[in-house]
Amino acid sequence: MHFTSVQCVQGENFLFLVNNADDESSFTYEEKSGKGPRSWGEINPHWQACKNGTLQSPIDLLDQRVQVLSHLGRLNRDYKPAPATVKNRGHDITVMWKGEAGEIKINGTEYKLLQCHWHSPSEHTINGTRYELELHLVHKCSQGNLAVVSIVYKYGRPDRMLSKVRRQICGIDEQLFHHIKSVDPKQDKELGIVNPGDIKFGSSRKYYRYLGSLTVPPCTEGVIWTIVQKVRTVSKEQVRALREAVHDGFEANARPIQPLDGRPVYQYP
Ligand SMILES: [Zn+2]
Repeated sequence: MHFTSVQCVQGENFLFLVNNADDESSFTYEEKSGKGPRSWGEINPHWQACKNGTLQSPIDLLDQRVQVLSHLGRLNRDYKPAPATVKNRGHDITVMWKGEAGEIKINGTEYKLLQCHWHSPSEHTINGTRYELELHLVHKCSQGNLAVVSIVYKYGRPDRMLSKVRRQICGIDEQLFHHIKSVDPKQDKELGIVNPGDIKFGSSRKYYRYLGSLTVPPCTEGVIWTIVQKVRTVSKEQVRALREAVHDGFEANARPIQPLDGRPVYQYP
């Protein structure tokens, strides 16, 4: 399938996702809870793609399977500083930009940056290797279709972006931990101006590209995925702080690998 053929028709679904994901009891990452990834498709009639879909994410990015396509071109991003808030969505920590935070361009289509959030361990695996953390930068084009840029991290030096938002993330954790009744723990917290340009993509500019889905219910398909090939570093403490800040009692928020079902996976360059 060619990415130019992807239609921009899924804006409504995305809003649906945001509303539903706010309900922390609606799904989990642990099968023992009865609401784990294998049950997502049965929890809500609108989530059937989680069970019946054929373009589901995440996947294993296997070198023997990728097709190198140099005409995909460099990842064209033009981010700018904008006011942002941070929120605990009950299954992850999300930074949402309120102003114009810039965009990426794929096949001539602009996708505006909306939010970013983290999964630990990583959801995508590279040649079977699961990393410690994965960042998802969620973008949307004017017709509503989504493009997610993903960066994976292994333990090492701290990540600069996370160091910057750390204090606010810990603030959320504190509110939850002490059960301050007067403050809604799900409330947005102002971060001030956050520059998405501070997020390092790596100098190699190599990336994987495939057509997949949201990795949380409703598992909506038609998402253009770009996974930066360079594995970056994050400190153990930062990964722990993110996990504890979600405060959902679970060890992880990563969906298991989904079948590729014959889909092409491309690589640039
Ligand atoms: Zn995600």
